[in-house]
Amino acid sequence: MNRIISMPISIYALGGLGEVGKNMYCIENEETLIIIDAGVRFPGVELPGIDYIVPDFTHLKNNRNKIKALFITHGHEDHIGGIPFLLQTVNIPVIYAPRLAAALIKNRLEEYRIGDRAKIVEYDDNSVFNVDSMRVSFFRVTHSIPDSFGVVVDTKEGRIMSTGDFKVDLTPIGPDIDLTKIAQLGNEGVDLLLSDSTNAEQEGYTPSEKNVLDSIKEVFENAQGRLIISTFSSNISRIQQICEVAVQMGRKIAIVGRSMEKAVEISRGFGYIHVPDNSIIQVQDIRQYRTSEILILCTGSQGEPMAALSRIANGEHKDVHIQPGDTVVFSSSAIPGNGIMIERVVNQLARAGAEVVTNSILSDIHSSGHPSKQELRLMLKLVKPKYFMPMHGEYRMLRIHSELAATVGVPLENSFILDNGDTLTLSKHKVTRSYPVEHGNTYIDGKDINGLVNAVIEDRKNLTDDGMVAITISIDSKNNKIVVPPEFYSKGLINQGSVHFIDECKHLVEKAVREKLMTKTNFAELKTVIKSVASAAIFDKTNCSPMIIPVIMSKN
Ligand SMILES: [Zn+2]
Ligand SMILES: [Zn+2]
Repeated sequence: MNRIISMPISIYALGGLGEVGKNMYCIENEETLIIIDAGVRFPGVELPGIDYIVPDFTHLKNNRNKIKALFITHGHEDHIGGIPFLLQTVNIPVIYAPRLAAALIKNRLEEYRIGDRAKIVEYDDNSVFNVDSMRVSFFRVTHSIPDSFGVVVDTKEGRIMSTGDFKVDLTPIGPDIDLTKIAQLGNEGVDLLLSDSTNAEQEGYTPSEKNVLDSIKEVFENAQGRLIISTFSSNISRIQQICEVAVQMGRKIAIVGRSMEKAVEISRGFGYIHVPDNSIIQVQDIRQYRTSEILILCTGSQGEPMAALSRIANGEHKDVHIQPGDTVVFSSSAIPGNGIMIERVVNQLARAGAEVVTNSILSDIHSSGHPSKQELRLMLKLVKPKYFMPMHGEYRMLRIHSELAATVGVPLENSFILDNGDTLTLSKHKVTRSYPVEHGNTYIDGKDINGLVNAVIEDRKNLTDDGMVAITISIDSKNNKIVVPPEFYSKGLINQGSVHFIDECKHLVEKAVREKLMTKTNFAELKTVIKSVASAAIFDKTNCSPMIIPVIMSKN
C-alpha cells in the first residue's frame, strides 16, 4: 500500500477578508477539511430586508465528505452567527468551542430548533484534538468577551497559527492572555500566522477594559435622570462592568432586547457577571422607581432597525418612551458602514428630548477589543512567523498590517494580502499562492420567528445576474388592512424601463396581500406571498429572476 507522503495544505478564507464580519477560515488537504469560525455580517442600509450575510458555502458543499470539525475561537456574532445556516447546508460532525461560546451556540441552535443538529465539545487551554493527520490546540487571549482563544494547527507540512480576535490586555477582566505559550509556540517555529487586523490603523496600545471603568462611572455620575446604555449583547466584559457600576450606584437594571437578556442570563450563570437578583427589574416595572434609580441596558448601538434602541428612539417600544432628562449612551464603536443608521437613531433620540452621548471613551474605537499597532508588533515578535496572512479586516487594514509586519521581521514577499476565496498552499514549511476556491456572499432574509426555522437562503447569483427588487408595504396588522400600497425599489434589474410593467406588478402584489390579509396569516406568510407573486410577474415580463426582498412595515 502506497501512503501519500506529502499532502499540501490549503489555507483560505470564505469570509473575513476585505470586510469586518462573517469570519470563516479553512484548512484543507486531500482527506481533511477543518473550519475555524462561522460568522455573520450585518448588512448596512444598502440592503433593505436582508437580515444577515453569510459566506457562500458552495465550496464546503462540494467537499462535504472531508469536513471533520468546526473550531470556534470565541462567542461573537461575526464568529458564531453563521453556524445555524452552515448546519442547514452541510453536516459538521463536531463543533469545538470554549465554554461561553459553547453555551451561546447551544442557545442559538435551540432558538432555531436545530439543537440536535450538532455535537458541541468544549475546549480549554490544555485541550488537544487530533483530526486525521492534523493536530489542533489552543492558546488563551484577551478580547471583549471571556473565553477567547487562538488556534494552532500542526500538520506534517508545517504549523499554522491563528490569533483569533485579541488584544493584549495586561489588566483584563478575567484570565490573562497566555503570552508564555504564544512565545513558546514561536520558539518551536510557526510557518504561517493569521492575525487580527481590525485595529491595525491605530497607533499605540488599545487601552485595557479596566480603563473604561472610570468612564462608565463618570457617565453614571453625570446622568440626572434615567440612564439608557446600548452596547453589543456580545460585549460581555463591557456589560459586566456597566452592571457592576449600576449596583454600586444604586440603580436597578432593566434589560431590553432578547439577545441582551440571554447574554446576561448565560454570563451570570457562569459567574462572568456578578449582579444580585434584586438589582434586576422587569422593564414593565420601571415606572415604580425614581428616574435616578434606573439603568436600561439595551442592544442597538449600531442603529440596527430591529434592535431595542431603534424601537425606543422611534417611539415604537411598548415600555420605554424617551423623556426629557434621559441620558442615552452608545457604548461601542461604530462598525464601519453603520454611520448613517446610527445618526438616524441619535437624531430621533435627541428630538425626543434625550441627552445623547456618542463620543465618550466607551464609544471610542481605542477602547475596542482589538489590538493596536504595538500589540500587533508584540504578537509578531513573539510568534516570529515565516509567513504572514493578515485577517479579520478591510483591505486597507490588511495592507497596513502586512507593512507593519515587514518592520518586525516578516518580509513583504512573505506576507499575503488575500481576498475571500484566495488560497495559500503550505508544503514542506513553504507557503505559496494557488488557485482560489469558490466564494461569495449569501444573503439571508428571515428574522421573524417563523422565518427562522426555514430561513430563505438566496443565491448570490440572483443578485449579481439579475439584480434585486425590494418591495415595501405598510400594513395595519390589527385591522388587517393595507395602509400604504406596495412600493418597488430595484437595483440592477434590466428591462425596468416600462412604468406600466412596474405598476402592473404593484397591483398584483397589492391584490394578493389584500386577499391574504382576509385570512388568518403572519408576516412570514405575507412575505412568501409577495415574493412568489412578484417574482412570477417580473419573470413573465423580463425573463429575469431578481432577488425579491419583501419589507413589511406594520402599524402595530
Ligand atoms: Zn470578537
Ligand atoms: Zn471578530
